[in-house]
Amino acid sequence: AKQGPVRSSANVRVVVRVRPPNERESGDNSRHVVKIVDDQVLIFDPKINSQAFFYHGVEQKGRDLLRKANKDLQFMFDKVFGYESSNAEIFESTTKNLINSLMDGYNCSVFAYGATGAGKTYTMIGNNDNPGITFLTMAELFKARENLQGERSFELGISYIEVYNEMVQDLLNPGAPLQLRDDGRYGVMVAGIKVHKIDNPDELFALLDKGNSNRTQHPTDANAESSRSHAVFQVYIQMEMKSTREVRAAKLSMIDLAGSERGSVTGYGGARFAEGANINKSLLALGNCINSLADGQRYIPYRDSKLTRLLKDSLGGNCQTVMVANVSPSSLSYDDTYNTLKYATRAKKI
Ligand code: ADP
Ligand code: MG
Repeated sequence: AKQGPVRSSANVRVVVRVRPPNERESGDNSRHVVKIVDDQVLIFDPKINSQAFFYHGVEQKGRDLLRKANKDLQFMFDKVFGYESSNAEIFESTTKNLINSLMDGYNCSVFAYGATGAGKTYTMIGNNDNPGITFLTMAELFKARENLQGERSFELGISYIEVYNEMVQDLLNPGAPLQLRDDGRYGVMVAGIKVHKIDNPDELFALLDKGNSNRTQHPTDANAESSRSHAVFQVYIQMEMKSTREVRAAKLSMIDLAGSERGSVTGYGGARFAEGANINKSLLALGNCINSLADGQRYIPYRDSKLTRLLKDSLGGNCQTVMVANVSPSSLSYDDTYNTLKYATRAKKI
């Protein structure tokens, strides 16, 4: 894709979602380090003498936590979502707006970024009561197809892959690792992958479930829910205008990124360490691409990792990108939250 020197910041939307505290984070040795000011502004590590520090009406204790000077840093994003927000609300102000771009033939990408346990999978996949933004976006896509089928014909296909240890696996048809290649129509594709044609949401949900159950999970001693793989769900949309025969193709990529925490906190050496290094490779490369795009550079290092190669045609240029930065509200995740907020701030500059 051609990339001009001036890029509209409207092409990237960065939102932060603060999940509710879990049980472990509701105890005495945890305090809240994220104070939501309004729907766009939050303060990280606010000054202690603020009412916001009273959790459930109880002043938070823990002298050791107070030793550090409070950073009291204000961050601003396109949107900030608090504990009570639902996946439907996130969808309404993020990926719903991508449908028009896809209909116009532009590639779109959606990232869930954050440390393990911060709420990435909850946001992307959710559960039966609170379906994630992947489901909701697809439902909206089916709706658009219905509205437009008088003027154009549609073909929808999906793939669901995992990038794990810089190897690409088909989550819908697990087997040997797959290679990437350039494809004329959709840009970079996974060689030999089966694209599943889908006609209705039910078919989609069945495939997503199947893919999720095939994801690589490695519990570590830092967090039993640790996920060290990037799950990449892609939708290929081909449309043909009935009057002009014009063909439009667009690709939507929705990525549940591996945990952004540092390898050191997981307390593993050996094999897990190599694994961590490789994950850092794709996450690091993504960060470098985001930095280069944010700086308006001509050269974007897409080729540095499997993940960024795969997303070369879906990041920057005319592509629309949404990043949901997921954070825990608790001081127990102080560094992870701070790092995620900084990363998200950087992405906002694209
Ligand atoms: P990640 O994928 O980033 O590792 P998860 O999405 O698995 O994190 O979330 C960790 C835990 O927190 C899960 O048990 C999940 O159900 C819960 N959780 C995450 N976000 C929310 C939320 N917004 N509301 C309620 N529970 C949440
Ligand atoms: Mg997860």
